Amino acid sequence: MSLSASLHPPTRVLMGPGPSGAHPRVLRAMTAPLLGHLDPEFLRVMDGCRAMLRQVLRTTNEVTLATPGTGTSGMEAAVMNLVEPGDGVVVAVSGYFGDRIAQMAERAGGGVTRVSAPWGSPVDADAVEVAIRAAGNVRVVAAVHAETSTGVRQPIEPLASAAKAAGALLVVDCVTSLGGIAVEADRWGADVVYSGTQKCLSAPPGAAPITLSPAAWEKVRARETPCNSWYLDLQLLEAYWDERRTYHHTAPISMVYALHEALSLVLEEGLEQRWARHARNGAALQSGLEAMGLVLHADAAHRLPVLTTVRVPEGVNEAQVRGALLERHGVEIGGGLGELRGKVWRVGLMGESSIPGNVLLFLAVFGRVLREQGFKADVREALGAAAARLDQP
Ligand SMILES: *Cc1c(COP(=O)(O)O)cnc(C)c1O
Repeated sequence: MSLSASLHPPTRVLMGPGPSGAHPRVLRAMTAPLLGHLDPEFLRVMDGCRAMLRQVLRTTNEVTLATPGTGTSGMEAAVMNLVEPGDGVVVAVSGYFGDRIAQMAERAGGGVTRVSAPWGSPVDADAVEVAIRAAGNVRVVAAVHAETSTGVRQPIEPLASAAKAAGALLVVDCVTSLGGIAVEADRWGADVVYSGTQKCLSAPPGAAPITLSPAAWEKVRARETPCNSWYLDLQLLEAYWDERRTYHHTAPISMVYALHEALSLVLEEGLEQRWARHARNGAALQSGLEAMGLVLHADAAHRLPVLTTVRVPEGVNEAQVRGALLERHGVEIGGGLGELRGKVWRVGLMGESSIPGNVLLFLAVFGRVLREQGFKADVREALGAAAARLDQP
């Protein structure tokens, strides 16, 4: 290959845990002419993002912006700014991403208590309440709304009540939920909500929406020691996003265009309609997989429509199945993370990837590959069950 070889990525059907397929309008927005990061026209784009983010996050919080970087930058901004050395922090951990929050909180100097649940169930709010009381000096409680490693939806409101009762602030990871299932920052009583662009918002990875309640902002501003991250210091970031427009970093211009277009698409579709679309396609996929004879890993009462974990049947090679799907059918799905490594597949139906055609395509090719592996997948039953579910509202 010559050094100047051109780039030819193949077209894939992205049904893994992210990135999801981006809408052509989002990709087109990224090819718009670059502007300077302080050009009044670009500042208007930023203001548009801020206003639309408030709508999509369902919040009136003044401090609402997007950090430069993938979803993890939103997580790091939330934790590094909110947690001060010595603060008690209780983290609900029922998967890989909850544990990542806990690790960050430890690096921020927090005294961290993990409240764990088996990978496949949500964390019990009563257990969180007990842990808050036992730990003392708890200033921050954190949880993952949609745990992408397990496919589980964590109920947030009971955690918000537990946090509030103890005078602590609640941080919620909505990286995989925003734009796919209901996220209601203000109604929940969440103090910090962050997300990412590459899951249900269907833009490329590269920005992380984040919003802070007045109480969370007060804690950030009252810090005795500066935030350990300069790049993700929310006080510096806010000074660029608000009317002060103080230079902090060169905004990732094209990524902000992408976010703007992706948010416009979400609002054009309508949040409720978008949640209903994800719910329907997710339910159809899950009906189809069960009709095929497979076992879903997450608790039935807490399954996410946007990310489904499927147990690998006895005798089937998990990685070979994923490889065959990608190489022969152009379909990407994910393998298990952490303690579910080798035990489950993770199938995403996020944003633009959440369409009926992908549900039926996936069931057909997945069943075929499983049959080659000796698992008697009933593809006809699977397609029938999924199609029946897709016909319902
Ligand atoms: C994907 C994901 C992240 C991390 O986002 P990146 O874009 O990979 O940095 C954090 N939390 C959850 C729940 C996720 O699904």
